[in-house]
Amino acid sequence: SQDRVFNFAAGPATLPENVLLRAQSELYNWHGSGMSVMEMSHRGKEFLSIIQKAESDLRALLQIPPEYSVLFLQGGATSQFAAVPLNLCSSPDSAVDYVVTGSWSDKAAKEAQKYCKPTVIWSGKPEKYTKIPSFHDLEQNNNSGYLHICANETIHGVEFKDYPVPKSGVLVADMSSNFCSKPVDVSRFGVIYAGAQKNVGPSGVTIVIIRKDLIGNAQGVTPVMFDYKIHDENDSLYNTPPCYGIYMCGLVFEDLLEQGGLGEVERRNKKKAEILYSAIDGSKGFYKCPVEKSVRSLMNVPFTLEKSELEGEFIKEAAKEKMVQLKGHRSVGGMRASIYNAMPLAGVEKLVAFMKDFQARHA
Ligand code: PMP
Repeated sequence: SQDRVFNFAAGPATLPENVLLRAQSELYNWHGSGMSVMEMSHRGKEFLSIIQKAESDLRALLQIPPEYSVLFLQGGATSQFAAVPLNLCSSPDSAVDYVVTGSWSDKAAKEAQKYCKPTVIWSGKPEKYTKIPSFHDLEQNNNSGYLHICANETIHGVEFKDYPVPKSGVLVADMSSNFCSKPVDVSRFGVIYAGAQKNVGPSGVTIVIIRKDLIGNAQGVTPVMFDYKIHDENDSLYNTPPCYGIYMCGLVFEDLLEQGGLGEVERRNKKKAEILYSAIDGSKGFYKCPVEKSVRSLMNVPFTLEKSELEGEFIKEAAKEKMVQLKGHRSVGGMRASIYNAMPLAGVEKLVAFMKDFQARHA
């Protein structure tokens, strides 16, 4: 609509307009209950119907096999950097493997050091996190409990297009920034986790999808709030969950199903990314994306200007045209356009038209 901007933020990020309008219409009095979802007991039948529908819609979207549990937790993906080793490693001496493809997997590996013995078996740092390793080069520890990856590095814009098969232990993936952006074969993973605030809802909800046989082995020191078994046994209602956030995620899941499911969502995401990357690659070097082509993210598109002194002007002019949050992460500079599910094609087309016009005026 006229009064909304195109918001290219990395997260919290833009949400589908129809979802926001529906939430608005249901805010004051949800389905005739006489109250807002924010005011409901998390143990009442109304909220139970909301969380159960959110889970079943997510299961339908990702075709989650029955031997997996879905948990709606708090604490952000950052809390999972600790929860994963605490739950999957029986002792602080357990060996696990991390592939570090950017800032987020780096943080995950560092946090794991407190609870187990992680080995970084590959790091993209020497090449400034522009690559994904080839899988047969990955030398895993024989006794590793899991192999951890970040499926999409939000800051560096590198995305796994396929997934390694661990030689030892299960595959664990941080999918915070590409969750529900495309179909995923959940059966290849032991654990998938994601903060909601990029593709599926507001911040405050953290989703964990875990194979049930991996639950129940947490180290003794694990806080109850980090123990998958506690949350699984209580259907994510051990304590007060982030009720309103879960409701919003549920509305997004419903919307994604109505759009035709994740195959259709991926088709749209590919189209948007293709338009933006072609504009960058076709700019004769005026714009540049440092990421190797085969692993460029469909969600987060980092780019620089050859004339870096123009970056401030670019961001300022774009904002005047209602395209906001294009500044790159403070650790890498340049620009970054996050084009999650809810960024309409029109937003990407407008950005590309602006980029061409800006180049014509400044080349
Ligand atoms: N992993 C990835 C890939 C992320 O993009 C982020 C947040 N930007 C995090 C982890 C941390 O998430 P949170 O802020 O929800 O703890």
